Amino acid sequence: MNPLVDDRDVEVILDELLDLAALTALPYFADHDRETFEMVLASARSLARDTLYPAYRTLDEAPPVLRDGRVHVHPSLRALVRRVVELGFTAAPRPAEVGGSQLPLTVFSLATSYLMAANLSVYGYIGLTQGAAHLLEAFGSDELRATYMAPMYRGEWMGTMALTEPHAGSSLSDITTVATPAGDHYLVSGAKIFISGADHDLAGNIVHMTLARIAGAPPGMKGVSLLCIPKQRVEHGALVDNDVSVTGLVHKIGWRGLPSAILAYGERGDCHGWLVGEPHQGIRYMFQMMNEARIMVGLNGVSTASVAYHESLHYARERTQGRTPGATSPVPIIQHADVRRMLLRQKAIVVGGLALLARASFYSDLAQHAEGAIAGRAQLLLDVLTPIAKSFPAERGFEANALAVQIHGGYGYSSEYLPESWLRDQKLNSIHEGTTGIQAADLLGRRAMAKGALVALGQEIEAACARATKAGVDAAWIAELRRATSVVGALTAELAQRGLTGDPTGMMLHATDYLELASTVVIAWQWLELAAVAKEALAGSLPRGRSTRDERYYRGNLAAAQYWIRTELPRIDGLATLCRDGEDSYGALDPAWL
Ligand SMILES: Cc1cc2nc3c(=O)[nH]c(=O)nc-3n(C[C@H](O)[C@H](O)[C@H](O)COP(=O)(O)OP(=O)(O)OC[C@H]3O[C@@H](n4cnc5c(N)ncnc54)[C@H](O)[C@@H]3O)c2cc1C
Repeated sequence: MNPLVDDRDVEVILDELLDLAALTALPYFADHDRETFEMVLASARSLARDTLYPAYRTLDEAPPVLRDGRVHVHPSLRALVRRVVELGFTAAPRPAEVGGSQLPLTVFSLATSYLMAANLSVYGYIGLTQGAAHLLEAFGSDELRATYMAPMYRGEWMGTMALTEPHAGSSLSDITTVATPAGDHYLVSGAKIFISGADHDLAGNIVHMTLARIAGAPPGMKGVSLLCIPKQRVEHGALVDNDVSVTGLVHKIGWRGLPSAILAYGERGDCHGWLVGEPHQGIRYMFQMMNEARIMVGLNGVSTASVAYHESLHYARERTQGRTPGATSPVPIIQHADVRRMLLRQKAIVVGGLALLARASFYSDLAQHAEGAIAGRAQLLLDVLTPIAKSFPAERGFEANALAVQIHGGYGYSSEYLPESWLRDQKLNSIHEGTTGIQAADLLGRRAMAKGALVALGQEIEAACARATKAGVDAAWIAELRRATSVVGALTAELAQRGLTGDPTGMMLHATDYLELASTVVIAWQWLELAAVAKEALAGSLPRGRSTRDERYYRGNLAAAQYWIRTELPRIDGLATLCRDGEDSYGALDPAWL
């Protein structure tokens, strides 16, 4: 049976890599301890393994259909989504006063990775609903919170994020959906596309958190507002149709249990929307939520790569083919070094990515619930790590998913085996919530330039180096990470200078290479610290680490650390040269030449 995510990785990240005690000491998390965390993890694991995963293929094979203006999802979804709602996952990290259980995001992220690995689509409904409800919690009036947020957090109603329009995807400043004042509400007209979870029969109502432009608003970002637009509005205690119609379904190549639809607001002139917060602040509100959403997408990426890694690991142990020197009969393909190369690369991406996502969640917990300098520093770290946490699992996860297909050989290229479906699922993660190109521009153009961001990051990496030195990790690995960190610092300063001296285009030309470079270093940091953990455990200074099974586990982590630091990290020099030299093959390319 595919474990989806390795329990041992989750335990090690939680107990040995991160400082969990720093979270449980905070008043917000006072009702929690390791035991309550274990209960959450255990229930997520068993729901994922026993119920969500067995339903995955059925949902992939029978996507939603649009009939008579309504979206019909697979009948099994109702029970599956209910089970996740019953776990309390719609509101778990939120405060008790809105129905949450004040669970650290760190634990929540690790728990949800099982659900995502099992069945991305099912978890998609819950993640979207949480995001929509959280927007109302953070910025909505008391009335909107009582009417629309509360039933979403209870899991009775569901939510969407309705941003994209046919002509405005990456560039949300160009949206044209219009909201015209009409007393206590607005009358909305316009169209949205790709809206996930936009219609289905899994909940009593669907609340679309929508970006729109109030009639007469200034052009660009500064004129975009956030509106709450339910599918059915509440009038005199009853639910009334709110003139939001589905005009088409997107026929997706993955995530096929979750409909993405084209929506039309106000075709009959009767679509009511309510302003959330202040007028013209929609983009700012959305941005405040984006760290969370991007961490969720990063987790989607890690989880999708994880389930495929475990599937291919199992296959490589079972499938026999070819002979190693001296063998008289075919050997399991895992005996071939090249197959182990592919497996180790997947492991390095999956576990390195999971550690990064957990760490980003940890900073998010501190940023929101600690105080003073600790919270400020954590926010700085979260901000700079977010584009990496979002895009590394998407880009390298896709590569890991392709390796899972490769390990299955010809069988991997057939739909009888599952790896091809995860490859399709994974592709979305480099597109939604800001494409990789947009993440790269955000990292180099803004987040890495934030005062103190790279200094704080350097200090964290240095702390990991110190831990690794003390644990007896190979000194060459530590030196390589220190060198790579200084490359990031020097390169960033040089590029910033180029921008400041009138060449912003030259500064940004290789933003995507810069993102890859920074990601490679950040993942090397995770692996160096995981190597330190392994050394500590093998030396007997950690509570676990004494059985043969433990020894194998930690040796596997040392091998993955070695792989990433010795084979991947040195590649940053080529990337740094591209950024520095401003190699201009595509920069100077006339589009007419293509
Ligand atoms: C399955 C699915 C589900 C989705 N769910 C939702 C949802 O629930 N809610 C929602 O609002 N949206 C949703 N989206 C939309 C998604 O967020 C957009 O597709 C995404 O933002 C990209 O926009 P676009 O498709 O218009 O591509 P474009 O913005 O046209 O981009 C096309 C290409 O050009 C590049 N590009 C664009 N602008 C720049 C630039 N300035 N600099 C460099 N490169 C650039 C991009 O990186 C990309 O490679 C979903 C999309 C899909 C496919």
